[in-house]
Amino acid sequence: MSPEASDPLQFVTRCVHGGVHKDQQYNSVTTPIYPTSTFYWNSLETNSGYDYTRSSNPTRKALEENLAALEGGVGCVATSTGMSAVHCAMALFSPGDHIIAPADLYGGTFRLFDRYLGQKGMHFTFVDMTDASAVAAAFRPETKGMWIETPSNPLLKVIDLQAMVELARQHGCITLCDNTFLSPYLQRPFEFGVDVVMHSTTKYLNGHSDVVGGCVISKSAEHARQIAWICNALGLACSPFDAWLVLRGVKTLGCRMEAQQASAMKIAEFLDQHPLIEHVYYPGLESHPQHELARRQQHGFGAMLSFDTIDGRPTAERVCMQTRLFDVAESLGGIESLISFPVTMSHASMSPEARQLAGISEKTVRISVGLEHTDDLIADLAAALDG
Ligand SMILES: *Cc1c(COP(=O)(O)O)cnc(C)c1O
Repeated sequence: MSPEASDPLQFVTRCVHGGVHKDQQYNSVTTPIYPTSTFYWNSLETNSGYDYTRSSNPTRKALEENLAALEGGVGCVATSTGMSAVHCAMALFSPGDHIIAPADLYGGTFRLFDRYLGQKGMHFTFVDMTDASAVAAAFRPETKGMWIETPSNPLLKVIDLQAMVELARQHGCITLCDNTFLSPYLQRPFEFGVDVVMHSTTKYLNGHSDVVGGCVISKSAEHARQIAWICNALGLACSPFDAWLVLRGVKTLGCRMEAQQASAMKIAEFLDQHPLIEHVYYPGLESHPQHELARRQQHGFGAMLSFDTIDGRPTAERVCMQTRLFDVAESLGGIESLISFPVTMSHASMSPEARQLAGISEKTVRISVGLEHTDDLIADLAAALDG
């Protein structure tokens, strides 16, 4: 992992120390939680730099500095959920604006775009972003932004960030990237010219399935200023306690990602040769259509994978219900392995037509690989497949 040019410290060192200002009062090694709504003023003109927790809070500030440093951005807001982060970033746009987004994006983001922002006068075109000519054809005079999510959910399509940024720039558009699936440990979209990065910190950044949260990170000071303003105006920021949990979780991001993706690779190889599996979606497999791109663009292949069973729902349902170590649950990125059926779970809010366009069917099962021993996970899947 190469350090940022501007920062002499290695990535994992920044995970541990980023934003953590040592406590001056009692020398606490960790950042204190400041569970206060308001801060008293020293005079009618001066305060500590904090006045009201919706606007800013020292614990949240520590997390924001940490996450900005990990992505290589200049500013960050830590929000109450990943969806409030998406909403916050999308408030950069106005009614009448047209946005290009991937056809197989996160179900909740699709719903926000299609059913909420779409009803408020914004326009969206959903395209297969692995097809540059389809993306090029989607631009309109009023196109203002491009939303990217890579690898995609749940089919792990890898989108070429640099190519998308070039297309967007040719049309005077800004690019926003949902980097939840890889975390900044494995992919840093700013290095490819993306303008705004968001995360559901619920997933890898926190990593322990015990909080929901999000963040929006900006590369330019102007976007950082606008997004901080929106976050305060709309009241989207996370609580000090939730910020503290994510800050605790992020310290182990590097070693969690290493272990989880090493297991994911072995599980993908196991499933790939299994007779009841028709197809495995994992960018680490050489057969993955964007394997070379993933190699170039990512610092690893991540710990999410999906597969299609040969007979559709019967085997999909059996695997989901008979594994013992994989909880059947939405979400991902925690240290507990999870298994899910996108059609009735994470992608239930998409219409059947939209799901079909995205290539998600009743054959599809998604796995988030946790920190259990690889051999136990493979034995569990093998037993469930065999029924
Ligand atoms: C979970 C998720 C979100 C939404 O985050 P919440 O914390 O659940 O609101 C957005 N994008 C992706 C890729 C996600 O996995």
